[in-house]
Order: sequence, then C-alpha cells, then structure tokens
Amino acid sequence: MTDHGEGDADRRIETDAVHAGQEPDAETGAVMTPVYASSTFAQDGPGEDRGYEYSRTGNPTRTDLEANLAALEGAEFGRAFASGMAAINTVLNLLESGDGVVAGDDVYGGTHRLFRQVYEDYDLSFDFVDTTDHDAVAEAMGPDTELLWVETPTNPLMRVNDVAALSELAHEYGALCAGDNTFATPYLQRPLEFGADVVSHSLTKYLGGHSDVVGGALVTDDPELDERFGFYQNSVGATPGPFEAFLVLRGTKTLPVRMDRHCENARTLAAWLADHPDVSRVYYPGLESHPQHELAAAQMSDFGGMVSFELDATLEETSEVVSNTEVFTLAESLGGVESLIEQPASMTHAAIPREQRIEAGLRDGLVRASVGLEHVADLQADLAAAIDGALGG
Ligand SMILES: *Cc1c(COP(=O)(O)O)cnc(C)c1O
Repeated sequence: MTDHGEGDADRRIETDAVHAGQEPDAETGAVMTPVYASSTFAQDGPGEDRGYEYSRTGNPTRTDLEANLAALEGAEFGRAFASGMAAINTVLNLLESGDGVVAGDDVYGGTHRLFRQVYEDYDLSFDFVDTTDHDAVAEAMGPDTELLWVETPTNPLMRVNDVAALSELAHEYGALCAGDNTFATPYLQRPLEFGADVVSHSLTKYLGGHSDVVGGALVTDDPELDERFGFYQNSVGATPGPFEAFLVLRGTKTLPVRMDRHCENARTLAAWLADHPDVSRVYYPGLESHPQHELAAAQMSDFGGMVSFELDATLEETSEVVSNTEVFTLAESLGGVESLIEQPASMTHAAIPREQRIEAGLRDGLVRASVGLEHVADLQADLAAAIDGALGG
C-alpha cells in the first residue's frame, strides 16, 4: 500500500507537484503510484476493510491524486471526478430547489449549458452578469442566492475577475464563492487564498497537460463541504478510473516547468501579435494594455498560456487563418503541450446567435490560441505564414 504523503506547508509548489500525495510503495518501493485497477478490496473480516472497499467510493490511485491536487492549491481537501463538468455538477448538488446562483456572463460554455439547460428544470435560478462589475453582481445577489460562480481569466476574452472582492461580496449575502481555476492553474493563482470557498478544475487541461485524459477536481479547506462533496462523489458516481488518476498525477509533476514555458511563449507571441498590422486587438492579461493588467499582476504570479486576438478580417478569412497553421493544431480544448488554435465564432462559441455573440465581444475575426511548449520562433513563424497566406500580407 502506498502512504499518502501530505502536502507540507513549508514546501514550495514545485516540490509538492512532484511529491505531495505520494510516497514510494511500502512493500515494493515503486516510486510511482501504481494504477490500482481493482473494483473491490478484500476485507480482513466482515466490515473490516483496510481503507478501501469499492473503487467508486475510494481507490488508492485516486487518493494520491486527490492529496496532490489539494497540496497544489494549498488546500486541506481534494476530490477527483470523471470530468471538469462532473466536478462543477457536484457543487450544484449542494443546492436545493428555490436557490439562486449568480455567475459570470462569459463562463465556460459547458458550465452555462449545465446551469441553464439542466438545473433550471430543477427549480434553481441563474443570473449571468459581468463579474468585473461588482455593482451588477451585488444587484443580482438576493436572499436566495447560495452560490457565486467565478472564472478567471475567462474564455476567450481573458477578462480577469477579482476573487477577493467577489468572495467578500458572496459572503456578505451568505453565499458560497466557487472559483473555476482551470485557465490559471494553482501554479499561477490560488483562489482559496483570496477567500474563495471552493476551487474547481478541469484536469483535462493544464493539470493533465498532455491532451490524453479527461478529469475534474474540487478542492476546499472546509471539512463540511469536503464531506458533502465526498457523499455526492460516491452517490452520483462520476469518479475517474485509476488509469485516469495516474495520468493526471504524472501530469501535475511537471506543472510548474510546463507553466513557465507556456507563460513565456504566450508572452512573446502576445507582444508580437500586438504589433502585427493585421491584428486589431490582443487579449492577454500580461500585456500592459490589458484593462485589468494590474489586478492580474496582483492575483496571479504570471499570466498563463492562453492568448486571444482579433484579426482585421471576415469570418471566412479568419477561418482560413486558423486552417492554415501547421504547428498549431486546429482544435478545441487547451492546456496541453501542443499548441492549439481555434475560431470561437465558428467553433467553441458557434451556438451563440451572431448578433448576441458580437455584442458579447466575440467578433468574427477573433482567434483563440492555447500556446504550447514548442519553440516560440516556430510558433511565431507559423502564425505569421497563416495570417499572410489568408490576408495576403
Ligand atoms: C474544459 C473546461 C471545463 C470542463 O471540463 P471537462 O473536463 O471538459 O469536463 C470547465 N471549465 C473550464 C474553464 C474549462 O476550460
């Protein structure tokens, strides 16, 4: 059996990323947590288990991952789920009919769908507001509001939300504040330190980091919340298998080094794009021109690997640009070692009617890039050729 080494408060995140939750196997010395591919566990007597009885309820590979994720966020408790959406769903399981939720108007599309198309039928109400406008948030909060859902930076316009101010606001109204930390990762930003009650993750993105696994997580410092999350985790059953847990554990070991390079490459590309004659706007919190650059600098230790930009181009020309790249792969998702490019208007945000989409700032020329770990000069040359090829630069 593996000992589950705790995160050590004195250790830095680079060390926790490699070690937290994991100790060499006591019996064999295996350095990596084994994939415990067992659905059930032998009991020494009726009701006398050795910590595990059934793998939906608990699995040793998953336990190590959960301890590792908690340590990365500087938190007491972590829970892993089958996907980011399963994790978010678990937060919604806390609510009762009649409760209200206030969320950002530019939250992840799947979050919006879960809230509006699943939970409105269960008599929960949802208000979507610009969470950078704290007066608008306060106005949307009411006596029935039990949850404020915050994402930062947001997708794809990279808006930055003030987690400390929004947590305080939520607490004034007796609501929980949950932060989706998928884009920033705990290496760059730890929402619990700013007062959030729960942090959710899509492990599918940077934490897994290799585009080879789907998973989700919730972390919190609150033992009561964690216990309820555990109850829903076991009752609903949207848990990751041991192989998925193993892949994410392997991914988190390199999170700090990967994020350093993601940030460095993104920063270089953002600066280059800002000077490009065919680019009318760049959305990257690391640029001083970003309207919330100072907030981002205060809340994050670096600015992440996601860069959005707007081409001075039609929908069709922009489609051609994103189809022209050779190093960047045309695909949705983000956070893997490889660079991905997409056009929100025709891909991730295509479900929004055009007029509404443009009003939300998602114009036809908008491009979103998940900047990977390739050499930045190759990424820049690839984008330059793709833009020139479509726009005749
Ligand atoms: C991908 C993503 C999710 C959903 O995660 P899945 O693992 O795809 O279920 C939630 N929030 C954000 C910000 C995401 O990028």
